[in-house]
Amino acid sequence: MNNSWIERKKTNHIFVGDVGVGGDHPISIQSMTNTNTADVKATVNQIEQLHAAGADIVRVSVPDSDCAKAFKKIKQSVSLPLVADIHFDYKIALLVADSADCLRINPGNIGKENKVKEIIQAANDNNIPIRIGVNAGSLEKDLQKKYGEPNSDALVESALRHVDILNRHDFSNFKLSLKASNIQMTVESYRKISKLLDQPLHLGITESGSYRAGSVKSSIGLGMLLSEGIGDTVRVSLASDPVDEIKVGWDILKSLNLRSRGIRIVACPSCSRQNFNVIEVVNELETRFEGIAEDLEVAIIGCYVNGPGESKAADVGLTGGPSNLLYVDGSPSKKISNEKLVDTIEEQVREQLQKKSAVDIIVKG
Ligand code: SF4
Repeated sequence: MNNSWIERKKTNHIFVGDVGVGGDHPISIQSMTNTNTADVKATVNQIEQLHAAGADIVRVSVPDSDCAKAFKKIKQSVSLPLVADIHFDYKIALLVADSADCLRINPGNIGKENKVKEIIQAANDNNIPIRIGVNAGSLEKDLQKKYGEPNSDALVESALRHVDILNRHDFSNFKLSLKASNIQMTVESYRKISKLLDQPLHLGITESGSYRAGSVKSSIGLGMLLSEGIGDTVRVSLASDPVDEIKVGWDILKSLNLRSRGIRIVACPSCSRQNFNVIEVVNELETRFEGIAEDLEVAIIGCYVNGPGESKAADVGLTGGPSNLLYVDGSPSKKISNEKLVDTIEEQVREQLQKKSAVDIIVKG
């Protein structure tokens, strides 16, 4: 779904495995494993959890040759496209190029042009893209010296240098990221690069912090850029379970109507007018709906102040009252007692999903 008010910049597109990034492709959501890559089983397991949560692409760190060997095995066991994350040692990129779906390199630490040239050759041989991942925390030394401290101009200059190398080698299969932990610097950097280049952009606020603070920071930073039409793929960086990054990424895109997935619960914050425990009901429903990928809107409203309006606008709605009233497809359906609220709403939602999928089958023939 993209019925957003946002007009996305139409960038060039590339493919990371079978996931299109840029152009008209939906904004993809990615995360990064935090297991020891050499532990194939644990890493595959985490990638599967990320897949179930709705990841489109997963990045895996490849710090050494043991991890490079493990990366190949991991790739054989999962269906999601994998980006190999390479720092310092370009030879690791050469080792994994035949199994990765994308190579992420950091201009600040990958070294001289001849090394980048070899990576380009390997990417070309395997028909995979490269991500130029600039990071404020690891800018090239001469840029650090030139600018005194990291700023958006330094990030853009670092990116352009590497773009220039790729251009000189006729390599256009790449995307870019320019990340900082500072929202202003990140937003300015992406705005500048977006004016200069048409390559797809991978958005992120790096090292944004803990689950709560990082989610807020990422939502603001990514939200500013996405609302301006900038960004083709996102990663929310959190000091938390990577699955949380996927969930927050989805919530950001869903909030902007850029993509849809799963049950969207509209809920009032509750107050003394509530006729049932709104927070408890919403939390329980959220848990029960976790595995559902289909899109449906459910309104849970504690009283008649806002209940009927919101309930009518949703696929399934509940308005609290002396007799709580269930709405289905915008019309009052039946009264429900407080004890049966969660079960009845879950039942109704699953029924609606079945109806929707039956209609889809008929429409698609
Ligand atoms: S909808 Fe009713 S219960 Fe919910 S916050 Fe508003 S007034 Fe309170």
